[in-house]
Amino acid sequence: NQNKVIMEQEIHQARTLQVDLGERAYPITIGEGLLSNPALLQSRIKGQRVVIVTNTVVAPLYLENLTKQLNAIGKQTEAIILPDGEEYKNWENLMLVFDGLLAKKCDRKTTLLALGGGVIGDMTGFAASAYMRGIPFVQIPTTLLAQVDSSVGGKTGINHPLGKNMIGAFYQPQAVIADVSTLNTLPDRELSAGLAEVIKHGAIIDSGFFTWIENNIEKLRAKDVEALSYAVLRSCEIKANVVRQDEREGGLRAILNFGHTFGHAIESGLGYGNWLHGEAVGCGMVMAADLSYRLGNIDFVSKTRITKLVEAAGLPIIAPDLGEQTWLDLMEVDKKNEGGQIKFILLKPLGSCLITEVPKELLLATLRASI
Ligand code: NAD
Ligand code: MG
Repeated sequence: NQNKVIMEQEIHQARTLQVDLGERAYPITIGEGLLSNPALLQSRIKGQRVVIVTNTVVAPLYLENLTKQLNAIGKQTEAIILPDGEEYKNWENLMLVFDGLLAKKCDRKTTLLALGGGVIGDMTGFAASAYMRGIPFVQIPTTLLAQVDSSVGGKTGINHPLGKNMIGAFYQPQAVIADVSTLNTLPDRELSAGLAEVIKHGAIIDSGFFTWIENNIEKLRAKDVEALSYAVLRSCEIKANVVRQDEREGGLRAILNFGHTFGHAIESGLGYGNWLHGEAVGCGMVMAADLSYRLGNIDFVSKTRITKLVEAAGLPIIAPDLGEQTWLDLMEVDKKNEGGQIKFILLKPLGSCLITEVPKELLLATLRASI
């Protein structure tokens, strides 16, 4: 017990949020320098044997130090290094993880540790869910998007040639360690993409947080540690709270798709990889705000605030001209749609949202005003 007190003191710099999911509950710790905090690593990684899954971009940046830190607290470590990129989030590379685990004769007490962005997190989590029917899994997200979004909520998986994220599992990690220091090496464009999901959390749930983001957007883009830590913490709280109420996406969780119906259409219309997901979501939120305004759900000031904040985050606010029919077709294939009617997550007012169908004339008006 005394050890525990000392440990908590040594972790003092960090803030921990408990994701309340009954027996699948786990802590998310957020702060600076966490990957060099032996007390934290010791308390969050239970097993003796650890296999780190990462990629060719992240490994040269953080793998050596993390390995050293883990070895210093008595962990036996090995690494599996995958190629970098969304196009490698597939069956072949998932198999490479299993190949590695079997070749290393890993048993079911081995902890799989995901060190990287959302691609590595999703793949590693899925591998952990399936290897020997489930082994311990810890997330160390190193992109803003992964820290505020993909590492929280337990969705794991890979892409299929016929659809993104179509093969996967719900599988919660034992812990998430979000070290904001790792964002120092993140390209600005990736940082902005992560900010889209931060803005989303404010827009749909918490107008006070939205205002805080407006007031701190320059600090966030300048990678101010305090600002980033707070943005990650509040985002995780908001997402965790939604996930706690709807772990397996029965209903409420769909609100996290604010801006995504338009965003997915942009991503697939332009070809995946052209715009980053967060860029498409940023523009999609501007469009969803426009539609909310046309329906009388938000006032003009709120609509303008959203557009200005998305722009200030370094994200696009003008939609690509895909052609009206293509736009409609692409939105109809969005997986949230049931019974042919496109459902939109709209604001009412800024800081809360609802899921609704909309008259086609209003949707067309938004499309015309957005391109
Ligand atoms: P990513 O994992 O591809 O990372 C973006 C780029 O940054 C990559 O090149 C990566 O190697 C590099 N990188 C990572 N950390 C870095 C660092 N600290 N310094 C420098 N470079 C770094 O992309 P992402 O935006 O993190 O995640 C996108 C993925 O997340 C998608 O596959 C998406 O489907 C998934 N996702 C999952 C969920 C979920 O709930 N599971 C939610 C949202 C997104
Ligand atoms: Mg998203």
